[in-house]
Amino acid sequence: MSELVLGVDLDGVCADYEGALRRSVAARRSVDPASLPPQTSTDHFKEWGLTADGFREAHRLAVTEDRIFRTMAPQPDVAEVLWRLSDAGVWIRIITHRLLFNGLHEASAADTAVWLDQHDIPYRDLCFIGDKATVGADLYVDDSPHIIDALRAAGRTAIVYDQPYNQLLDGPRAYGWHDVEALVRDHLDGAGARGGADEQEDLGG
Ligand SMILES: [Mg+2]
Repeated sequence: MSELVLGVDLDGVCADYEGALRRSVAARRSVDPASLPPQTSTDHFKEWGLTADGFREAHRLAVTEDRIFRTMAPQPDVAEVLWRLSDAGVWIRIITHRLLFNGLHEASAADTAVWLDQHDIPYRDLCFIGDKATVGADLYVDDSPHIIDALRAAGRTAIVYDQPYNQLLDGPRAYGWHDVEALVRDHLDGAGARGGADEQEDLGG
C-alpha cells in the first residue's frame, strides 16, 4: 500500500468559513444573512461592502467573540470521506492559513483543534502556515486561487475545491468531497503504477 500525503485546507474546503462569517457580519448589521451575497472575488469580501480593514475587523470579531472556528458548519461528507481515505492509507495533513492576523492565535488554534475533534475529522498533522508549498504533500486540496497558483508554481499538484471565487482556475476540480475522494484514489492508482522509486521521491516532504 502506497502512503500518499494529502494536504487538506480547512476554510472553504472542510469548513464553511464564508457562511459563518456571513452570519457574524449580518448579526452585527441586524440584517438577514441571505442579504449578503456569495463571495465571487478574493478581495476581502468587498461583495459585502467591506474594505481590507473592515474585513480584518469582521474576521477578528467573528473569531474572538463569535468563536466561528469552534462553531462553523463542516462541508458535507468531509469526515466520512477523510476516514475512508485514511483507512486506505492516505496520510491526512491539515494545512491552514488561519493564523492570518496577530492577536487571534489562541482562539484560532484552540478552536480549530476543538472543531476537528467535534466533527471527527481524522488527521496526522496540523500545520498553520501561509506558504503551503513549504509543507510537503503529494497532493493538496484547496479553494484559494492565490494559494493554488503558488502551489502549482512550485511544481505541486493541487485539486481545486469548487467555489464561486475560484472559477478561473484549471482543474482538477472537485464539486464536493466525493469528487475529492475519486481524484485522490486516481492519484493513488497512478502512484502505485509508477512504482516504488517515484513514491519515495514523492514522499520526501
Ligand atoms: Mg481555504
